[in-house]
Amino acid sequence: MTTQETIELYSKYVIANYKRLPRVIVKGEGCYLYDAEGNKILDMFPGWAVSGIGHCHPKVVDAIRKQAGELLHIDNTFYSEQQGQLAKLISERGFGGKCFFCNSGAEANEGALKLARLATAEGKYKFITAEGSFHGRTFATVTATAQPKYHEGFLPLLPGFVYVPYNDISALEKAFTDEVCAVMIEPIQGEGGINVATKEYVEAIRQLCDEKGAVMIFDEVQTGMGRTGKWFAYQHNDVEPDIITLAKALGGGVAIGAMMAKEELAAKLVPGKHASTFGGNCIACAAGIAVVEAIEEDNLIENAVKMGEYAKQKLEQLGEKYDIIKEVRGKGLMIGVQLSSPGAAIVDKCLARGLRINCTNNTVLRFMPAMIVTKGQIDEAISILDSVMGETK
Ligand SMILES: *Cc1c(COP(=O)(O)O)cnc(C)c1O
Repeated sequence: MTTQETIELYSKYVIANYKRLPRVIVKGEGCYLYDAEGNKILDMFPGWAVSGIGHCHPKVVDAIRKQAGELLHIDNTFYSEQQGQLAKLISERGFGGKCFFCNSGAEANEGALKLARLATAEGKYKFITAEGSFHGRTFATVTATAQPKYHEGFLPLLPGFVYVPYNDISALEKAFTDEVCAVMIEPIQGEGGINVATKEYVEAIRQLCDEKGAVMIFDEVQTGMGRTGKWFAYQHNDVEPDIITLAKALGGGVAIGAMMAKEELAAKLVPGKHASTFGGNCIACAAGIAVVEAIEEDNLIENAVKMGEYAKQKLEQLGEKYDIIKEVRGKGLMIGVQLSSPGAAIVDKCLARGLRINCTNNTVLRFMPAMIVTKGQIDEAISILDSVMGETK
């Protein structure tokens, strides 16, 4: 099938709720994508952070193949070794909580929000979330997402949400009434433009949640699984949340979400309170186990730290050359380049030259290469970006 034929299928049969680039991708390998016309693309934003250890990581592919020959799915009426093992791996690398599995980031956040209401004292029902956040597209999670552009056309939203400016401690204190059952924030805002929570902010959230008997939820759907240079981004500070949510990179390309909650909270989620038919299925969990093993066997967190430093330094050097670059920020391989004007045209021009990056919040270029990325690949990306910026100067 030609690229045009595939695009025609979409225009006839697929709902057009995404703005798509006119490329049909047929193969992915490590940091590269290949389209139907034979073009090779250096992917610095693999699967919107899903392919966190690269496209088709051989260890993940092997684990999926092996599991597919044994058992694809078993419902949660039974036990399966894979679900238990993956929960153990996540728990041991995090704060020792218990896991609930689902199939996406939004579902993981739904689980966290429901659990917070369930587990806190009567009369507590309000959620505090931050402006610029992104938590998903279901009704609860899009309501949690404090960005008006995602709300348009869907009013009325779910009641009980209060929005505060990110990293603003006094606004948080003011909003923290006795009805608050949880605060949910991203330790580094992804869609909001790679905004890093300050140490003081994270500490204030912890302290207020403790004082008021509320639940501290970190949405680590984008930051989790090593990308920022720690297993989970909360580990950059000395503060543990009560719940973290994961998805994206957890399955190495297979749909999976997880919520990990501290034991005493987790105990409230008794049979009948919450569920997911596909949640924790054998294939997704086998893939998740392989992701964790690959990250450790190949020292990918260490690589994320090193390559993150290197990429940041290279981008800062570009910043000295081009006025359009105002700031380079982020942690590990979650890097944002703040521009002084919209970045969409730069992203398009990069793609035409075989480099995929992303632009979020209109003026922030987002680099989130796979954790297997090499210096050579970063150099290649920087040199393409350099030539594109040189032209648009
Ligand atoms: C992508 C994302 C989500 C939503 O995940 P889906 O799998 O699309 O539902 C939620 N929170 C954050 C921080 C994300 O980056």
